[in-house]
Amino acid sequence: MTETVFIGLGANLKDPAQTLRDAIVEIAAIDETQLLAQSQLYTSTPMGPADQPDYINAVVKLETRLAPHALFSYTCRIEQEHGRTRNGEHWGPRTLDLDILLFGQQALNDEQLTVPHYGLQEREFVIYPMLEIAPDLILPCGTPLQSLTQRVPLNGMRPLN
Ligand code: AMP
Repeated sequence: MTETVFIGLGANLKDPAQTLRDAIVEIAAIDETQLLAQSQLYTSTPMGPADQPDYINAVVKLETRLAPHALFSYTCRIEQEHGRTRNGEHWGPRTLDLDILLFGQQALNDEQLTVPHYGLQEREFVIYPMLEIAPDLILPCGTPLQSLTQRVPLNGMRPLN
């Protein structure tokens, strides 16, 4: 059985645009997984501490035969290979952040994974890139993704180039 998965990517250190391009190639190479679509790269202002560089964000759509935690172990490894440091600062700067936004219709909630991702309905840098590649998506809770734009503005986010 395959599942359709959305992953959100974010980075704001080193060369974040190149980091995201590299990470998308690495995600596409995950075993038993195919890249179906990728959004443009977007630039957005940071959540949390303001004294950090702007973020580059994107969302990709995958099809995978992996179970959620198996996919998660691959995405963690990709984060680590990009030298993501965990200094404990919530929403602090990071080399690469990969969030599993949706895993088919599955709902998961354990120590490692909360899916759908808790930020999905609030974050412009998730909603708008995701809409670009899945304009008709209905979330597992029944909410059309498109409807979230009514209460979440772009907040200055724009396509990179
Ligand atoms: P953060 O530093 O805010 O990106 O949080 C990273 C932590 O979020 C990791 O330890 C993950 O175990 C946890 N986490 C919970 N749900 C998810 C998810 N859907 N995708 C990625 N990480 C998740």
